[in-house]
Amino acid sequence: MNSNELNSNVRLEDDLYNYVNGEWIAKAKIPADQSSTGGFIDLRNGVEKILLKDFKKMLTKPSKDELLNRAVTLFGKVLDEKSRLTGLNYLLDKVNYLDSIKDEANFATALYYLYSHNYPLPFNIGVTEDMKDATKYSLILAGPSTILPDTTMYNSPNAAPLLNVYKDMVLTILAKLGISNANELIDKTLQFDMKISKIVKSSEEWADYIKCYNPYDFNKVCELLTPAFANLVVSCYGKAPEKVIIFDPKFLDNYHELMADFSDYLAWAKVNLIVSNVSYLSEEYRNLAGTYARAISGAKKMSSVDKFAYRLVNQYYDEVIGVYYGKKYFGEEAKADVISIVKNLVESYKIRLQENTWLSKATIDKAITKLDKMEIKIGYPDKIADKYYSYVYSPNQSLLEIIDHLTSIVVSYSDAKLYQPVDRTLWVMSGNTVNACYNPSFNDITFPAAILQAPFYSINQSIEENYGGIGCVIGHEISHAFDNNGAQMDELGNINNWWTEADYKNFQTKTQAMIEQFDGLPLEGAKVNGKLSVSENIADNGGVTSSLASIERIKPNCDLKPFFINYARIWCTKARPEYTKLLLTVDVHGPAYYRANMQVRNFPEFYKAFNIKETDKMYLDPAKRIIIW
Ligand SMILES: [Zn+2]
Repeated sequence: MNSNELNSNVRLEDDLYNYVNGEWIAKAKIPADQSSTGGFIDLRNGVEKILLKDFKKMLTKPSKDELLNRAVTLFGKVLDEKSRLTGLNYLLDKVNYLDSIKDEANFATALYYLYSHNYPLPFNIGVTEDMKDATKYSLILAGPSTILPDTTMYNSPNAAPLLNVYKDMVLTILAKLGISNANELIDKTLQFDMKISKIVKSSEEWADYIKCYNPYDFNKVCELLTPAFANLVVSCYGKAPEKVIIFDPKFLDNYHELMADFSDYLAWAKVNLIVSNVSYLSEEYRNLAGTYARAISGAKKMSSVDKFAYRLVNQYYDEVIGVYYGKKYFGEEAKADVISIVKNLVESYKIRLQENTWLSKATIDKAITKLDKMEIKIGYPDKIADKYYSYVYSPNQSLLEIIDHLTSIVVSYSDAKLYQPVDRTLWVMSGNTVNACYNPSFNDITFPAAILQAPFYSINQSIEENYGGIGCVIGHEISHAFDNNGAQMDELGNINNWWTEADYKNFQTKTQAMIEQFDGLPLEGAKVNGKLSVSENIADNGGVTSSLASIERIKPNCDLKPFFINYARIWCTKARPEYTKLLLTVDVHGPAYYRANMQVRNFPEFYKAFNIKETDKMYLDPAKRIIIW
């Protein structure tokens, strides 16, 4: 996008976001294979384009890096369409195996086989850091995901048309594969899915992630789930743990009801197995299997095979590719500059905490301890994590077999961690990712190399622009340590109350005000969900606050116009209406328009920079303005 196009039809004082981005948005065309364009998405496309070009070169001129070559060879396997179809029999054999399981007794015997061969199970298990002792891992259990992207959608008028698209898609795929009793399979699948939708969490419920921590006695879980669970766990992990963390207890309580008609599960497993694997067989199948996702996102056609290949390879070799990208495209000069910005942000955050007027000294000290302990990861890791060295496959197999094999390795590598100590040097985002994150269990923040480019950050941008961009993003990630969820975890990444009662009450009042500030804001005929997006809105708020404090330290009394203009620019997005509505339902982030326009109204610096008056639409009554951190 041309960053200099400011929209003269809109007054900044009435609509900052459209003043900055409106002209570009009016002209921008969303590519047919995408559901949105602009900002983050353009940067993602840019990184993808660079790496696609490099990957294609490496297909004929292999790199000296063995891991990278494995990624590139897999990339080539996806592009070799003829060889992909050779996986057809492998898929049909896998599907047919399910016919040998007739009832729960067979299911119990076959459970470990099903798990270790990546069959869809009626529950999900996994290994993650224990939320009350982040030095250890825990076994977690959750329900399966639903066909519609959120449980609340099942009551909406959109449910039936979307499920019909899914149904037609499945029937077409089953017919093409020559699978009989297709109608029965899809009807039973939808029946099973409807039952799941009633007992698993909605996106709003998932957003309150502290509530995922429900430790259950292992034997109790076996009782509620199935006695076969004990065998499964011993086969996977060598021995049973004392407890299992149940992410959604309602699911576990209703598991028996869900499985009342065993044939519903079998049909659902068959359909899921097919839908999630046929894309590896050919582009024709991939196009078919993407029909439903496109109906949800509004995208008009599937992505090119190149992009599909690149994204698939990233699912397995993300860090390998991220380190390659970081070393080649992210300079040491930029890294040093970004480190100095992060240090300034952390220091400003500390000063603001010290000067905080609504917390007692005891709570302030604890918050500062948490900030002091926060680890910072910038660019890409020094060394590639061990697990990537075991992602080995035979290039002579079909793509589907390779993917199935690699998935098994990923799962068993993750499972093997259960009784091992947690390694805090691991990165959760690769260097080629255009994003940033706070990991509550590690109490660390990560800024991959790929986000460290304009408009977020550039050595060629002004200090004001960089602080309005990456400065606010850095402050945002730090603030996640102190959002409604982060506030319940301590400096070691454990759920632990470090607040005085009165201070926490104050914080909850502020959190509630943030929920109300965003709840119900209109967009595309739908509304923002204040509860779903509260953690991100608190983080945005803290991001702007701390970045403003940081720039004040190094450039006191500077003109903040470029700061706020670049802040609005980083949110520039044009999305299809279907996609906007989808995000309003499932995304913990608020819509880009309000992340810019609603948030800036909270800051006196914004009013001062642009001389905003009571008669301007961007004006917000001072009594309604919120600054938390
Ligand atoms: Zn965030």
